[in-house]
Amino acid sequence: MRRASALKAYKYRIYPTNAQVLFFAKTFGCCRFVWNKMLNEKVQAYAKKERISGVTPAKYKDEFPFRKEVDSLALGNVKLQLEKAFKNHFRNRKQFKLPKFKKKRDKQSYTTNSVRDSIRVDFEKNLLYLPKLREGVKIELHRIFDGKIKSVTVSRTNDGKYYASILVETENRRNKVVEPKSKACGVDLGLEHFATVTNDFGSYKVEHPKYLRRGEERLKRLQKSFSKKQKGSKNSEKARLRLARQHAYISNARNDFLHKLSKAIIDENQVVVVEDINVKGLLKTRLAKSVTDSGWSKFLTYLKYKAEWYGRTFIQVDRFFPSSKLCHRCGHKNGDLALHVRTWCCPACGETHDRDVNASINLYFVGLGRPEVKPVEQALVDDRSPHGLPKKPSCDEAGSLTVEC
Ligand SMILES: [Zn+2]
Repeated sequence: MRRASALKAYKYRIYPTNAQVLFFAKTFGCCRFVWNKMLNEKVQAYAKKERISGVTPAKYKDEFPFRKEVDSLALGNVKLQLEKAFKNHFRNRKQFKLPKFKKKRDKQSYTTNSVRDSIRVDFEKNLLYLPKLREGVKIELHRIFDGKIKSVTVSRTNDGKYYASILVETENRRNKVVEPKSKACGVDLGLEHFATVTNDFGSYKVEHPKYLRRGEERLKRLQKSFSKKQKGSKNSEKARLRLARQHAYISNARNDFLHKLSKAIIDENQVVVVEDINVKGLLKTRLAKSVTDSGWSKFLTYLKYKAEWYGRTFIQVDRFFPSSKLCHRCGHKNGDLALHVRTWCCPACGETHDRDVNASINLYFVGLGRPEVKPVEQALVDDRSPHGLPKKPSCDEAGSLTVEC
């Protein structure tokens, strides 16, 4: 059996003492200082079309604030991060913009490496030991890991919470695998409901969690209140903090929802089929806000890697596959089905369809690899003779009315 090792990151909340907060602040500040200095030098060379030479933090050594107190590995990592940002930019300018200067207001972080066990976790005392810190930082170890620590990234969110993301080298053991109950499942993502799922046992809809809806309403209110406050005033700072806290709450709550749902789907089914929703194309349209809020692309990423972890098959169908427009019963393609139409009646066989359920059934069929369903070709045949099959009388000609048939 192959026993490759894998890197896994575990993120924990940490509770530094006042002295540790001060140490973190100094390290963040120093990293930010070095980042901005190096970036400035690179940007200027870039503007003059000069070759960008290897800039190192050592160059600014004398200018460092608190240079003796700060972890030098953290500064080395700043250099690596900056180089990577530039490399990405030159490889793909559209996706990766030029790196930006860092501000004190942004999220703060630094990364340090473990050299000869300089980073340790005491699982009994709930303490994290970091280079340059004599005393351990209180850490909430909500889960245990096992393996060699490679590095730690300490971060402070802009609502004032501290986290440590620990990168661990572990043996690449498969996670505990549950036997799937269903052979396949089709997942249709929507705006009205988060998802509609069909598997061997039938179809069900997954609502957008209520706490997220409520949270977003509160977010809107806080945003409004923040924008009304006088800039730089004490009340404005308070409002900013409340807003940041709410942002963090929503993002955590959404991630939690997406993780749990994707895990449940992966546990239950052997093959998972989703649409390629062309997130980037949709983001440019008016749907943008709801799409980003509903976290579709994150959800697909989670499904994909969880499928890999648990030995399931993840299929993303071509975005031109007309999953909502095909009648799952007879394969007729309803060419002009508008986006707002939630229920439609198949003009060929008379079946009434809930738009999302029908789409998820079609995706489920793809997962089963049912040979008799070759949706696209079959649709073409039906397009040519749409009147060959009996119709239900209450259907209108286009078959796209939102009335019960
Ligand atoms: Zn039909």
